[in-house]
Amino acid sequence: KLIVMGSVNADHILSVPRFPLPGETLKGQDYQVVFGGKGANQAVAAGRSGADVTFIACVGDDDPGRQMMSQFETDGIDTQAVMTIAGMKTGVALIWVADSGENCIGIAAGANAALTVERLDPYLPLIADAQILLVQLETPLTAVEAAARHAKAHGTLVVLNPAPATALPTALLKLVDVITPNETEAEILTGIKVTTDQDAQRAADALHALGIKVVLITLGARGVWLSENGVGELIPGFTVKAVDTTAAGDTFNGALVTRWLEGRAIREAIRFAHAAAAISVTRAGAQPSVPTRQEVDAFLQQ
Ligand code: ADP
Repeated sequence: KLIVMGSVNADHILSVPRFPLPGETLKGQDYQVVFGGKGANQAVAAGRSGADVTFIACVGDDDPGRQMMSQFETDGIDTQAVMTIAGMKTGVALIWVADSGENCIGIAAGANAALTVERLDPYLPLIADAQILLVQLETPLTAVEAAARHAKAHGTLVVLNPAPATALPTALLKLVDVITPNETEAEILTGIKVTTDQDAQRAADALHALGIKVVLITLGARGVWLSENGVGELIPGFTVKAVDTTAAGDTFNGALVTRWLEGRAIREAIRFAHAAAAISVTRAGAQPSVPTRQEVDAFLQQ
């Protein structure tokens, strides 16, 4: 059993030729509302990959919240711990995508801010009963830490995707068994800029020094740097035509823990996660881009 805990956002996306200047109004196109949020994306990636997954999250008492709840169920996620918070709105991300491919994002946490230690408390037994807890950093840190502490005390493996990038208290990092930063996040956590393989190993060593046994630094199209107890290697990804890398990391994390829970070795789980993430970058949007198990299996058989 897998527990994913984290954020839920409705992504409002507008394509603009360039970012508007202060005071300027620009005409955009292709406005869409797409389901996102790191926690939800990772839960969906696990659900579509075939995991027995329960999601701990907060949504608002509004239409987006209800629509997402029903989408989670369609994706095979147990929603008993997805709380609807009265008087709050579901989290929102306002995203401008320029023709250059760059984006600019503003976030309203909404109900994600309600995922506190108190609200988490009734669901702690779910964490104790699970094999893996997967968390990120888009919901209050105090509750992320409480979840990790409970997992650690009950022998549940703690997997932290330390995104969005931020420095973290050592107390939290010491509870983590497996960490999956991208290059930026690895640099913020360790102060080591990851350019070469040697840098990646030095950053991994700094994380091992805190007691983290497995470090996976994701390197975009290059793949990941895997370091287990101080021994590292590059596990290359798949070459595809990327159109939108939104949720690549989330898809990678959800698929990774799913395959790992099936009792596969870490390298095989990484290969599966690379395939799922590679498919996701060939498609637009966050959750709409996340592939199903059938699609990942077919991709791996090519
Ligand atoms: P994040 O999206 O969190 O910044 P990365 O960019 O490192 O994370 O990507 C995470 C994973 O997604 C990679 O390890 C790889 O499996 C896959 N991926 C990302 N970008 C590409 C790409 N252009 N081509 C193929 N796979 C990709």
